[in-house]
Amino acid sequence: MQIKKRIYITIFVLLLSLITILVLKNPTILGNVTLDNLYKEDYKCKDCNIILISIDTLRADHLGVYGYERDTSPNIDELAEDSFIFKNSYSSASWTRSAIASILTSKLPIEHGINSERKKERLEDDFFTIQEFFNERNYSTAAIYTNPHLNFGLVQNFSYTNYKGNRWADKTYDKAINWLESNSDNKFFLLVHNNDPHDSYDFHKGFNFSQKNSKYRRLGPFFPTRIDGNKIGCENQENITQLNEEQLSEMMANYDEEIAFTDHHFGRLINYLKKNKLDKKTVIIFTADHGEEFLEHGRYWHGCSLYDELIRVPLMINLPEISGNKFKQKVSTIDIFPTLVEIFDRDNLDKYSFSGQSLLPLIENRNWEEKPIFSSTAFKGPLKYSLIKENYKIIKYAEGPIIGIYDLDKDPEESKNLKNDPLFNYLQDSLQELIELKSNDLTKKDKEKSEIDEETLEQLKSLGYMN
Ligand SMILES: [Zn+2]
Repeated sequence: MQIKKRIYITIFVLLLSLITILVLKNPTILGNVTLDNLYKEDYKCKDCNIILISIDTLRADHLGVYGYERDTSPNIDELAEDSFIFKNSYSSASWTRSAIASILTSKLPIEHGINSERKKERLEDDFFTIQEFFNERNYSTAAIYTNPHLNFGLVQNFSYTNYKGNRWADKTYDKAINWLESNSDNKFFLLVHNNDPHDSYDFHKGFNFSQKNSKYRRLGPFFPTRIDGNKIGCENQENITQLNEEQLSEMMANYDEEIAFTDHHFGRLINYLKKNKLDKKTVIIFTADHGEEFLEHGRYWHGCSLYDELIRVPLMINLPEISGNKFKQKVSTIDIFPTLVEIFDRDNLDKYSFSGQSLLPLIENRNWEEKPIFSSTAFKGPLKYSLIKENYKIIKYAEGPIIGIYDLDKDPEESKNLKNDPLFNYLQDSLQELIELKSNDLTKKDKEKSEIDEETLEQLKSLGYMN
């Protein structure tokens, strides 16, 4: 009897210890994580800095934290360990200018008006941006970037900008670290946008994913050549080069090498923050503007369509001294700005006009509702929309037929088109409703008259944009 009692007590103590360890490791196991720390008077993050990292052309599913089997992202994965990770996060567009304008304004492309790269559409000054929010709070604001699309009004009102096209991640992150060395005495908001995973996919010694002499490094807009791509546009790609599986996988290895190269230099920035104890007072947001397609739906590159390989992007938020969590709810990169506002100006969130919504209630397990996710593109072709509602997604020409309807839960590859099933008519209605709602406050300005400088123009051409 005595022995039995001891066994019961031992089991009880073991179970209790196990539960304690689990709860300590993951406070959300209690079902209600509270971020009270954020709002306490003495919490250091009241005056936190912010670093927003956006990587050009980075598909979520090519990162370890999003389940990729190749080790492309050890440093990003390490940051993810104590970050809030949004497993199903979407961009508002599948090309840079449109997508980044949405992140910085929390407005959809049909609202900020940047839909097509052919017209020189730019972000008008009257849109309120993340940098302006932090300027108002006396932060130093800096944008260090390598994609010329940001020169179309997107970096308006940063107190410091540094742009250089064709600059690799090593130099971009050097520049970011240098800027921090002389500016981190003040509160700061730093945007870093590096272009490395954008084609061409350069060889980087020491990463061992690709062969130096690979033929598949430069896609042009639509492969095999830029000139053909610009001529044929998005809608006439039936005759593009069909690479076989082996060639495609070589091309993807080249792409992955650019991700690994970026990850390595991103890691140097994180180490700098840790070494200087800036990690304890800096909110880090990690995301991308759009993904890349490798013939999954008959095309290469990006911009032309709105399938998940193009609009599903990583999104992670790292809050100092608060352990993270994973979410499978569908969110959008236009949710970044309202989330920042709720962290830094909690009582006034309602006063701002955003199309996204703050993710803090989701993080804190308060009242939060998943909203339909809307994306669009008119890149080298007619305007297309996509809408994701619950597990269904519709892609449609703005003025034309439905391209596809997919069940993202059962068919994440979007291979089984349900567009002829009348059950899904409601998706088209929802899409129409949303467009009408948003069109009401569209600005009717002529977007075609903007001026851009020669260097930006040259850079755009070298990346395969414009004729
Ligand atoms: Zn881009």
